[in-house]
Amino acid sequence: MVSYKELGLVNTREMFAKAVAGGYAIPAFNFNNMEQLQAIIQAAAETKSPVILQVSSGARKYANQTLLRYMAEGAVEYAKELGWEHPQICLHLDHGNSFELCKSCVDMGFSSVMIDASSLPYEENIALTKQVVDYAHQYDVTVEAELGVLAGVEDEVSAEESHYTRPEEVIDFATRTGCDSLAISIGTSHGAYKFKPEQCTRDPKTGRLVPPPLAFDVLHEIEKKLPGFPIVLHGSSSVPQEYVDIINEHGGKLPDAVGIPEEQLREASKSAVCKINIDSDSRLAMTAAVRKVFDEKPGEFDPRKYLGPARDEMKKLYMHKIVNVLGSDGKAL
Ligand SMILES: [Zn+2]
Repeated sequence: MVSYKELGLVNTREMFAKAVAGGYAIPAFNFNNMEQLQAIIQAAAETKSPVILQVSSGARKYANQTLLRYMAEGAVEYAKELGWEHPQICLHLDHGNSFELCKSCVDMGFSSVMIDASSLPYEENIALTKQVVDYAHQYDVTVEAELGVLAGVEDEVSAEESHYTRPEEVIDFATRTGCDSLAISIGTSHGAYKFKPEQCTRDPKTGRLVPPPLAFDVLHEIEKKLPGFPIVLHGSSSVPQEYVDIINEHGGKLPDAVGIPEEQLREASKSAVCKINIDSDSRLAMTAAVRKVFDEKPGEFDPRKYLGPARDEMKKLYMHKIVNVLGSDGKAL
């Protein structure tokens, strides 16, 4: 049993309380490899933003759960080396799907876990979430739960049909489970193809898809029911069209990839939404940078010469999100 506190990590309780009160949101970035982790920590350290490092089931399979945990421990030391005196870094399990998995993460030093039982019937979602909360809280590990179903594909999490969170259920759910934060469904979606063309309109000038707006009325209903309670948005990449263009110009093929407009995320950050998950955007940044090098310098074969630019591009993206979208810069001095 390792406590995250020995590793210099923090749970989400104080981060979220401050974010809700301050009208900003904490970035939750997924990581799978060293370059991505370096980019996240460099961006957070430079902007002095609290940050949540997320480990998905795909990341655990790809990189190994134990190795990722030690990387997060290293990230705390790296942040200090970069001059961030009191780093606020949370290590979070993304989309945990069983009690055993959540328990193993609590036991190995994660400071926060998500139990996603949103695909189960309501009462079963409550029972499983409560079981995880009861265990995690013994070790002061915070728990994110989910109510409502997001569309899209994220690693092994996928759903054909989405349905919005029902505001009339949130008080009962939060009270009976004791969860610390709640992921809701208001129209965000996992992946780089968040909407089918038939769900969108098309900008006549650029020919690009314009996605349907988020259901802010549902969000405001939920806020009214649970004043000050931390709300989480998954699937909130914006799919920057400049990356899609670079990818497509350099041999890639991502037709009609579209995400959530940043203005809408900015608006959500000012509400009870205090954690915004961003994964696909960094994948796009990385792929754009790597494709560009491969295309322009076909003789290059030193991985540092393409992973280095990829890291720089991801860092730029993370800093942009922190400063211009979430507003979390300067909140962890
Ligand atoms: Zn998610």
